[in-house]
Amino acid sequence: MPEIKRDIIGLSPPAAPQEICVLGGGQLGAMLCEAARRMGYTTLCISPEAADPAAQWADRHISADPGDPLLVRDAARHSAAIAVEAESINPASLVPGGFCGTLSPGADVQRIVRDRRLEKTFLAENGLAVGPFRLAENADELTAAATELLQISGRVVAKTARGGYDGRGQVWLESIHDAPQAWRTLGQVPVVVEAAVDFAAEISVIVARNNRGEKSVFPVFQNEHRNGILFQTQMPAPQPLEVVSQAQSLAMETAEMLAVVGLLTVEMFVLKDGRVWINELAARPHNSGHVTLRAASRSQFEMHICAIMGLPLPPVDVLAPAVMTNLLGDLWSRGEPNWGAVLADGRATIHLYGKAPRPGRKMGHMIHTGETLEAAQAAGLKAFNNLAAA
Ligand code: AMP
Repeated sequence: MPEIKRDIIGLSPPAAPQEICVLGGGQLGAMLCEAARRMGYTTLCISPEAADPAAQWADRHISADPGDPLLVRDAARHSAAIAVEAESINPASLVPGGFCGTLSPGADVQRIVRDRRLEKTFLAENGLAVGPFRLAENADELTAAATELLQISGRVVAKTARGGYDGRGQVWLESIHDAPQAWRTLGQVPVVVEAAVDFAAEISVIVARNNRGEKSVFPVFQNEHRNGILFQTQMPAPQPLEVVSQAQSLAMETAEMLAVVGLLTVEMFVLKDGRVWINELAARPHNSGHVTLRAASRSQFEMHICAIMGLPLPPVDVLAPAVMTNLLGDLWSRGEPNWGAVLADGRATIHLYGKAPRPGRKMGHMIHTGETLEAAQAAGLKAFNNLAAA
């Protein structure tokens, strides 16, 4: 395990910089590489294409399948840590022989978080609050699960056990008669079936945990989704103190039970009576955490690196109330969006990931800070509406 050499930022790098290997080439990996370099580490990215966002930010890039065990074993031989940014990677390929650095997330955690069946079962068995759910392996089991859960809520959602994200791999059912079609639509694969949660808000909590079991929890974020994709994140979440402390405790407890090293993101529903239920886990940085890049004393990417490199995990403060707005490829339908209109506001920043635009694709995000959360929210919404109308 690397020694603790220095505080987080600003001190001169060690004579022989330690290397962090990032498996996967998306924007999360790109922002991780950016933070790693500022903190004095070098980075190696393994991803399919040289044009991938993380490939553009890494010191070294290998164009290959980041789930290839032999390649990872060889490439990561000299790395102090391996950070997996793609949930799709098969955990069986994640244990390079003789590797004694940190693997984040570890194979056991990765196995659980990439399969909704294992994830929900893990949470329920450990007494961590989740909504009512059932598992179904065939059309009859889906019908039986829907029959039971429709008695709790007027609608249920079936989600593929693997591979779904941003609302994909999900079908809503309003009657048991919808079950056979839902089974076919989802590709006749194992599913998790959930009762619809009549939530008051959606929030997420990010916890950093290092290999000594030290933890630091971020302020709670409040998320608004549109068409199943994150639209905006507010920090700090406008929730009562009881909800905030309940959510942070639940996230810390989950991170401890999983023994995560790195970041754990816990997506949650806030019920109308103030209770909090876990919806989903991600053992890595998260889209909602991008708001920390400009508005918190440490970004989620810096904290991820601190956690995997065994550095101290300081408390994180909100520097200013802020709102992050995702920029999807739809905004490019008539060419490059008019950024001037956004940047005329001195408190707005734009982050672009260097990807080719496609409808629904996450191309970048904006962050607006404000004197108050309401002011930041109004500025973010106005900027988004201007871009969408241009
Ligand atoms: P997920 O991929 O599980 O994060 O779901 C994407 C979005 O669908 C969530 O952020 C919610 O807005 C909605 N959703 C998912 N599951 C449920 C549920 N059981 N009840 C109500 N809304 C849900």
